[in-house]
Amino acid sequence: MDRIVFLGTSAGAPTRTRNVTSHCVLTRAGRVWMLDCGEGTQHRVLACDAVKPTRIDVILITHTHGDHLLGLPGLLSSLSLGGNRAKPVRVFGPVGVKRFLETAIEVTDAFLTYKLEITELTPGEARELGIIDGIKLSAHPLVHRVPCFGYVLEETVNEPRIDPAKAASIGVTGKLIGQLARGDPVTLADGTVVTFDQAENAMCSCTSGAMSPEMAVGRGHSTSTMTGAFAKAIEAKKLILTHFSSRYSDGKAGQADSEPAAFAATRETTSAAGSAEVTDIAGLVAEAQAACPDTEVVAASDFAIFTID
Ligand SMILES: [Zn+2]
Ligand SMILES: [Zn+2]
Repeated sequence: MDRIVFLGTSAGAPTRTRNVTSHCVLTRAGRVWMLDCGEGTQHRVLACDAVKPTRIDVILITHTHGDHLLGLPGLLSSLSLGGNRAKPVRVFGPVGVKRFLETAIEVTDAFLTYKLEITELTPGEARELGIIDGIKLSAHPLVHRVPCFGYVLEETVNEPRIDPAKAASIGVTGKLIGQLARGDPVTLADGTVVTFDQAENAMCSCTSGAMSPEMAVGRGHSTSTMTGAFAKAIEAKKLILTHFSSRYSDGKAGQADSEPAAFAATRETTSAAGSAEVTDIAGLVAEAQAACPDTEVVAASDFAIFTID
């Protein structure tokens, strides 16, 4: 994997600056694996030079909530207008995705000029999904209000991605670097065992912000603090926050882009009571950072690109 491109970083509904959920992994071969496809994602693709629609091979749907799925029929229809595709488009997602897509395609009289392969996942069951273009794919159930899956993408061709100078500084040189890159531990002359720590790689997680933990868990979401604690537990080098509730502003205007009156009332009440509840995304980053001091915490924004180390 090469880069992660965020196309939509809002949860539930779009805001003026953030579209609903979607992000893409760009492979080293230059192909695109999309994760989730909220409404309007194809407009984000059009505005993003890094994501070429003709290169989208795999679309992974975490769950069937609209902010993760409603953009897919439109995107798939438009792919038919972009010239002939030799490769199929493979869609993976929980049970319901096939019925939803087939109904949308049939009712709208869409005609796909390429092969669409839909694989549905059984709720609660982890599943190995094979190797596609050198990437081993597996799905793992997550806790949410509806059946939900996280996906693990593992490169089967382990290219050495170890900094030789850094390796040399701890006594790993020559062939031992390749051994480490293949995932095999290396024992140094003094008996020290060195492993290639996968947690060095950037990780990406979701948060819906620092609302009360009871409220977040009830909705099947994580708070900033919970996400930070998770990053600390796995010793992540980097934590990228995304999927922000639309009640949190980008901090530019000092208030949320879109904020129902009920939320505004809540905020006034809590601030009057002296609560430290944050109202912008910078505050969420600070809360997550406090829970994982050794991890670099950043907030994703639409069109942000992160290189995978
Ligand atoms: Zn969502
Ligand atoms: Zn959801």
